[in-house]
Amino acid sequence: MIAMTEPAIAVENLVKKYGETLALQGISFQVYPGEVFGYLGPNGAGKTTTIRILAGLSSPTGGSCRVLGQGTFKNPALYRHLGVVFEESHLYERLSGIENLRFFAALHGVPAARIQELLQTYDLAKAAKRPVRTYSKGMKRRLLICRALLHDPEVLIMDEPTSGLDPTSAAVIHGAIDHYRRQGKTIFLSTHDMTEAETLCDRVAFLNRGRIAALDHPKALMRRYGQPVVVVQLRPSVESSEIESLRERVAPERIAWEDDLLTVRLPLEQVDLGTQLDQLRSLGEILTIHTQEASLGQVFRQVTGTNLE
Ligand code: ATP
Repeated sequence: MIAMTEPAIAVENLVKKYGETLALQGISFQVYPGEVFGYLGPNGAGKTTTIRILAGLSSPTGGSCRVLGQGTFKNPALYRHLGVVFEESHLYERLSGIENLRFFAALHGVPAARIQELLQTYDLAKAAKRPVRTYSKGMKRRLLICRALLHDPEVLIMDEPTSGLDPTSAAVIHGAIDHYRRQGKTIFLSTHDMTEAETLCDRVAFLNRGRIAALDHPKALMRRYGQPVVVVQLRPSVESSEIESLRERVAPERIAWEDDLLTVRLPLEQVDLGTQLDQLRSLGEILTIHTQEASLGQVFRQVTGTNLE
């Protein structure tokens, strides 16, 4: 749900240069309260550069970046309202989980009860007194989220919070994001994970080489750029030369073998779909046939000409 209020994050024609490298070439977007905004791009696209500017750690070369109406660079007053989860762990490994949280709680004047509440919520209460260096990757990531949420910020910025985590650990973080969004807070989420973006984000921006190549609701992007397909699975009963001739009629990337089964993906919207299905029937026994929407990953490939995986 997007509340039509003032944007929590407003980025206007943002430019960042590192020497000769133009990392951001004029980026503009707004993120509204109650919204999860996904930021997707291949390596080197400029995601971390954007996040560093949003978090006030780096100054823009040009354009503007405002969070809750304020400039971000060297603005400590903003940090009370901002939580940041970086991909790389910035935790004190020799201190325990609870000591890490106490350290940051003291900076923000957060009561001890809040630390206990977060440790419980993120299933870290039992391990709270163990040094962080003994934590698994998932536990460290959960502790980072606790730390970012300690002072109950209005805006949460997350840099690939689930990268390298197993599905169970990732699901805990997805739950946290959803819970936080329901409170009307704002989440800026950079991710490589298309499924995560599709299921969790209200809107996504595709970043490529320092420019936004597309920005919209995931479903709207899939409708606009994606092409639904008919997926046919069959067990061929003809000579392999006849199967080979299929490659002349259907693009090779639309044909896949798994053991002795053949899967063919035909664009749904094409004039001779009926003829193509008849031809497939003549090759053997059709086992399954169903339609499939375009995925966000396909849209990304089409819009940027790049693969994220
Ligand atoms: P990744 O997914 O690999 O983290 P990214 O989308 O976060 O990539 P950035 O780290 O923002 O991309 O980098 C964008 C561009 O800016 C890249 O070409 C990178 O080499 C360059 N860059 C980033 N930081 C610096 C720096 N401190 N000095 C020089 N160039 C930099």
